Amino acid sequence: MSNIEFKKDVIIVGTGIAGSLIAKLLTDHVFDTEKGKMVYRAEVDHPENVRELSILMYEAGLEAGLELDSSSSLTTYNEYIRKFYMEEAKVPNSPYPNLKQAPSPDVLDMEKIIPPFPDKKGYLVQFGPMPFASDAIRIGGGTTLHWLGTTPRMLPNDFRLTEKYGIEINKPDSKVKTPINWPIDYDALKPYYEMAEFEIGVSGNVAAQEYPISESMEEYYGKDYVFPMDEIPQSYMDQKIINGLVGTSVQLNFEEFPLTMVPSPQGRNSTPNPAYGKAKIIKANSTDSGYKLSLNNIENEEYKALGSVWNPYMGERCEGNASCVPICPVQAKYNALKTLKKALYKFNKNENLQKHKFISVQAQSVVYKLSVDQTDQEKISKIHLRRYISKEKTDFVEEVVDTSDSIVILAANAFENPKILLNSKYTVIENGQKVEKTVANRSDQVGRNLMDHMVMLTWGLFPEPIYSYRGPGSTTNISSFRDGNFRSEFSAWISPLDNWGWSWPAFSPGSDISEFLGQGLFGAKLKEALAYRLSRQVLFHFEIEQLPNPNNRVTINDQYLDALGIPRPVINYELTEYEMKAMEQAKLASDQMFKRLNIEDFTKYTEADKNTFIYNNVRYSYNGAGHIVGTHRMGDNADDSVTNSYCKSWDHPNLYIIGAGNMTTLGTSNPTLTLSAFTIRSVESILSDLENKFKN
Ligand SMILES: Cc1cc2nc3c(=O)[nH]c(=O)nc-3n(C[C@H](O)[C@H](O)[C@H](O)COP(=O)(O)OP(=O)(O)OC[C@H]3O[C@@H](n4cnc5c(N)ncnc54)[C@H](O)[C@@H]3O)c2cc1C
Ligand code: SF4
Repeated sequence: MSNIEFKKDVIIVGTGIAGSLIAKLLTDHVFDTEKGKMVYRAEVDHPENVRELSILMYEAGLEAGLELDSSSSLTTYNEYIRKFYMEEAKVPNSPYPNLKQAPSPDVLDMEKIIPPFPDKKGYLVQFGPMPFASDAIRIGGGTTLHWLGTTPRMLPNDFRLTEKYGIEINKPDSKVKTPINWPIDYDALKPYYEMAEFEIGVSGNVAAQEYPISESMEEYYGKDYVFPMDEIPQSYMDQKIINGLVGTSVQLNFEEFPLTMVPSPQGRNSTPNPAYGKAKIIKANSTDSGYKLSLNNIENEEYKALGSVWNPYMGERCEGNASCVPICPVQAKYNALKTLKKALYKFNKNENLQKHKFISVQAQSVVYKLSVDQTDQEKISKIHLRRYISKEKTDFVEEVVDTSDSIVILAANAFENPKILLNSKYTVIENGQKVEKTVANRSDQVGRNLMDHMVMLTWGLFPEPIYSYRGPGSTTNISSFRDGNFRSEFSAWISPLDNWGWSWPAFSPGSDISEFLGQGLFGAKLKEALAYRLSRQVLFHFEIEQLPNPNNRVTINDQYLDALGIPRPVINYELTEYEMKAMEQAKLASDQMFKRLNIEDFTKYTEADKNTFIYNNVRYSYNGAGHIVGTHRMGDNADDSVTNSYCKSWDHPNLYIIGAGNMTTLGTSNPTLTLSAFTIRSVESILSDLENKFKN
């Protein structure tokens, strides 16, 4: 074991989008010793008064994935692409190294659960009764390497489900109800959404957005707001579906829902929108009420799309390669390595990129525990990690790092953050008695309220060719069911139209080839059959909001350890009537839309599906959306939440816990834009803490 005494100002665990955003924004600021303030680096008048922040990031993934100079990053990324080509099942994790030292959840490991026996085939130990159906990846840059990149904002009512629709949840192991409103509302988050859309590089058309909300679109987005880049064109398939559905509605539960089909905002490069204007910076200003970040124009620089990490002039436009999940070959799709590179490299006086001396990333380092100093305000005093020595071997070096003078930021995702916290126990003396505590868990909410969008798929054959399998995964969504009074009874949902044929539910086109070969077709007849079917395949997809539920949780158990002896996430996961009823309603909506479009329905849910249930005598099956959310919720008070609205732990003055785990509810948006917005906002609080530290 090595005890490491170096003092860092900030230690960040994880290089995904959450960790990288923090690193990037912090490295853009320095402490001005004369002014006694944190200031934007480029605005320093007297370099001799600068106190740089020292930052260390820990990353569980391989060293190679974090070498971001042009030639190394190209080499590693090409390895990912080669692996993707070779893998038979092209699932989200297929291009990336599957490490025994830092395993990742994988959809291929998911099994049907037969309680009380857990499914422990993969990294997750799943007690169910239903499988949690999503994965993530532990490599440099994290899960945005294989995300799809869809970036809608949440709707105002998503932040106030209790106030608007009377929804409350039980406190853990109790019948006492607790509200599920967020500690911040949409308006408070709006400026940070703009910053996140800038950093991710969102393409989209504000004027074409239409949601079932009482606010006007001008109020929702702000007057004259535009996304940084023009909309990615809606696919030919989208246009055919829109033409068939426009002006019509769907009847559910005695209520009629007019159908609105809108182009989806997304984190992939298109043409910069001239109305977006200049390139921007995110900079902190010190105000009477603390630091405030704002998005500012750089007057002499036009906004440009940011291409790949190895070459900014590659990937400047989406090329329609259509493999966004699991990998974009040219990095036209945003991934967090782009933000991480901006943290690790800065422009020098000669406008050349140079490695920044005050930040480093230590790879192959799996953080597994925090210690607490009871004598010093219950500060986090140590980080414990296991640093494995190679890709092949599970030998590791144990490191214990002194953090008593550091701000510790956990940004390891909504499975790993709670896992590390639950593995961190400490004892205090209260009223003369020894009391065992878990780090950051005064509320008993750590690990609870695990949520995902439950994805119900429906698929069929369009009456004419619509030429699926072209373009990014999805370019349009049906937004009609994202909000409404029905939310007091069942979940809201969003319905992306998928451009990838039946590949998700039926493993097309491979399965179509097998089926036709099995029927004895070959040569021209086989080609004809394939051309007929593949060009007509449509897939609708219903992402159903899941409510926070304290029984849906990540825990740990000494019985289930990984190859480094670190606890694996143990999952309990159930569905409630609220979500099951929504699936019933979504299927009714799908049936009506299919009928109107003359789509021949091929949807089939069978008992053999691993994630299937019966509701009102009808079978439904669901998939995961990859949206792992809720396990360290933010809130207004320490009794029922883990962090405040700035992601700062209520219990420890030098601990931030950041990521989709902070989300109090899920809404119907993919979570990453929202998590990026509140991650950016949390930097205001971190800067204040740093100012206090440097002044004292
Ligand atoms: C298939 C798929 C598609 C998706 N599509 C979308 C989409 O279209 N839109 C959207 O908004 N979201 C999407 N998501 C979700 C999105 O990818 C996540 O919300 C986002 O990546 C979470 O970012 P993060 O930084 O919190 O976590 P991650 O990206 O998971 O990063 C966590 C980092 O921490 C590291 N780490 C983990 N454990 C440790 C440890 N113990 N010690 C040290 N380091 C550790 C990991 O290696 C990783 O680098 C998708 C997800 C999947 C799986
Ligand atoms: S469609 Fe192709 S080029 Fe465009 S983001 Fe997806 S993978 Fe990248």
